[in-house]
Amino acid sequence: MQPVPIHAARSETPSVTHATSLTLRIYRVLLFAGGAMLLGVGGLYKFGAQIGESGLVDPVAGRLAIGLAALSLGALTFTSATVRRHAIGLVYGVFALASAWQIAAVAVVGLTPAVSLAVMLVFMGCSAGIQTTRLLAGYTVVFVGATALAALVGTPGMVPVPAFLATLGTLGALGVYLSHARNQTLRHLNEAREQALDAARAKSEFLAAMSHEIRTPLNGVIGMTEVLSATRLSRAQRDSVETIQISGRALLTVINDVLDFSKIEAGRLDLEAEPVDLRELADEVAAVVAPQATPRGLEVVCRVAPDVPAQVLADGPRLRQIALNLLSNAVKFTEAGTVTLDVSVAGRRRGLADVRLRVVDTGIGIAPEHVGVLFDSFTQVDASATRRFGGTGLGLAISRRLAEAMGGEIRVESALGHGSTFTVTVPLPEAAPPPPAVPASGAVLLLVDAHPGAREALAEMATHRGLVVHAVATAEDALDWIRGGGRYDLAALALTLGDAFGLADRLRALPGTGGRPMMLLSPVGSQTASPGLFDAVLARPVRADRFADTVDRLTGAAPTERRVPLAEPSRPALPLRVLVAEDNEVNRKVVVGLLARLGVTPTVVGDGAQALDALHADPYDLVLMDVQMPVLDGLEATRRLRAELEVQPRVVALTANALPEDAERCREAGMDGFLTKPLRFDALRAEICGPGAPAAPAAPEPAVSEVPSAPAIAAHLEALCDGDRALATEILRAYLDTEPGLVADLSGDAPAAAAHKLRAASGTLGADGLAHVLFEIEAQARDGGPDLQTLAEVRGDLRALRRAAEAAQVLLGGLAEVT
Ligand code: ADP
Repeated sequence: MQPVPIHAARSETPSVTHATSLTLRIYRVLLFAGGAMLLGVGGLYKFGAQIGESGLVDPVAGRLAIGLAALSLGALTFTSATVRRHAIGLVYGVFALASAWQIAAVAVVGLTPAVSLAVMLVFMGCSAGIQTTRLLAGYTVVFVGATALAALVGTPGMVPVPAFLATLGTLGALGVYLSHARNQTLRHLNEAREQALDAARAKSEFLAAMSHEIRTPLNGVIGMTEVLSATRLSRAQRDSVETIQISGRALLTVINDVLDFSKIEAGRLDLEAEPVDLRELADEVAAVVAPQATPRGLEVVCRVAPDVPAQVLADGPRLRQIALNLLSNAVKFTEAGTVTLDVSVAGRRRGLADVRLRVVDTGIGIAPEHVGVLFDSFTQVDASATRRFGGTGLGLAISRRLAEAMGGEIRVESALGHGSTFTVTVPLPEAAPPPPAVPASGAVLLLVDAHPGAREALAEMATHRGLVVHAVATAEDALDWIRGGGRYDLAALALTLGDAFGLADRLRALPGTGGRPMMLLSPVGSQTASPGLFDAVLARPVRADRFADTVDRLTGAAPTERRVPLAEPSRPALPLRVLVAEDNEVNRKVVVGLLARLGVTPTVVGDGAQALDALHADPYDLVLMDVQMPVLDGLEATRRLRAELEVQPRVVALTANALPEDAERCREAGMDGFLTKPLRFDALRAEICGPGAPAAPAAPEPAVSEVPSAPAIAAHLEALCDGDRALATEILRAYLDTEPGLVADLSGDAPAAAAHKLRAASGTLGADGLAHVLFEIEAQARDGGPDLQTLAEVRGDLRALRRAAEAAQVLLGGLAEVT
């Protein structure tokens, strides 16, 4: 298989210089006819001189005719792209021959050296002057200068003044024609450019509209996975949610790519340079394609060489996009066998690592005659395969352009029926050195994996984690090894489920190995079927970070399993009154769900007019405003609220239109921020808590810290009830039922008793700060009456706690559904 460089497939950009005007064409014909006529006159002179009838044509006029003919040809060559392309060699040849002939003629007639020089200059100028306007101008100057020189220093009367003036006149006329023709051509070029830009604009607008339509449902998918991932999930569920999330984001990337394609075509691709973890990147893309591969019995192997830097500076999403495209093609076009993603470093020089992503498949392969067009846009080799698998034929074209924009290249080796290997090599600055190998702990891993490639990759990963690996292919080999005296501390079984369970049973039953921890490396989707036989279950292809965590846990390097928190604990309730204006039901759910993670319970309205009504009725700190809404859209609603309201809220756009122009329109309408759909939790949090907000914000001001957030309440109650969410919900309901009466009693006859009960109830919900303040109120009430200021503050806190408790109830209800 011969590697074929992709440059072979580069397509030609069509030339726009064909747009010639009628004037220009007439001008060319005139030039051609004039040149031919002048050449004829020169020939006549020559012929006349030879047959002894000198005087038929003036010798000077003859030479001048030749010069002008050369000039005409030069001008013709300059103005015609076709002549320039096809006849340039010929024209140069004619010039060279004419020069030689002229010099010979000069020698024969015995002109002075000055005149000889002048004639030479004329022809040098000719040949130089045909490429650009500037050179043509240079040629004209040289020609005029040479003719003037001949007139002044040559044999007296050699170039009569009228002939000289005639020459100047001709040149002037030519110049005017040339500049006119040039302007005409420029005008045509400009028109063509405008048309091309219009077409590009129309394309961009269409793509933007399409992207908007796709983004809205995608918002539901990605947003809901964000909401779901804040709940307590089993490891298998978490894996599935993460895969949905990763796939959703990959789809989003594709949409962005279609938008980007027009950008790339227009040469407007901006690449970022940020630290990228190549191991994470490889694991992520492998996890995205694995669900399509494993059900078909296709093995996906991901291998990252130990010398690959921990971090490189690159455009992460773009690099990921290339890898994902190659990998999903490989999975698409491979019926059986293996798809391998191999990340390595091909070489290093001056801080740059030549990072190589190689995707090898055992699929249908590509015929040599198709390899050349593979990287052209909208090209698909096999229409039947395309019908079966879908696809746009854009992926490889984008990948190639991206790789080239990064200073790298893509190559392909393929043989029909024997699979393909796509190799991307990009030079990237190293941001962090390769991770050091973990010192050998002496622990022995028994690895049973039937797939040689996967076994090798896992063994390498485990060795790097400091394990001594004994790798075998079958259950029988493993048992033979143990019977022969082999001892292990940890077993990893990557077999079919039946084989894995069979072997696990037998290992458990063997004396001496029964208590050893075992992990099942199971194909995606089947891990839920694992009974308590295994200590850990990891999805294949195994992610390096998960593998490391599990090994640490099972070998005792990390004593207890990290408990997956229900949500970030002790997040403060934000003192925000938030209004969400959103007409789409799904989007509403996403926003409300994500806000609940921040402890915010918003008021929700369905259009801009309702938003204005709500804002006139109550003050709000923040409005999350959808842009496209019925009745009154977000932009108009913002303009009006900016004009009408006394106390201005912060307004943040919530839109599926992701283009910079859209952001600009929102800003112009008076919005303060811009969030694109699919809405990301991180982006929303940054918008609400400020940029760079930590995952769990630092301890807030005392006034705020009295009240925990909804997720914190839910987590607290769940822990209190030892995981019994029904009981936790029951407690919340009881609190919400009794709270209004107790709050009223705080200013009634028995404030001390009310404060006492509220103190206990707040403590149950985990609002320790508030419970403490209520304790003080209780004491003050017993001593004659509570401090009014404190009482007012505590009422505010109790209202916030009620809101958070209501949201926590929703959260716990949601949790009950997912587990
Ligand atoms: P598409 O989105 O249609 O897959 P691509 O540009 O990614 O577009 O691929 C173009 C064509 O190249 C595919 O339709 C397929 O015919 C061929 N191709 C790409 N990758 C492979 C592969 N790994 N094995 C066989 N054929 C491939």
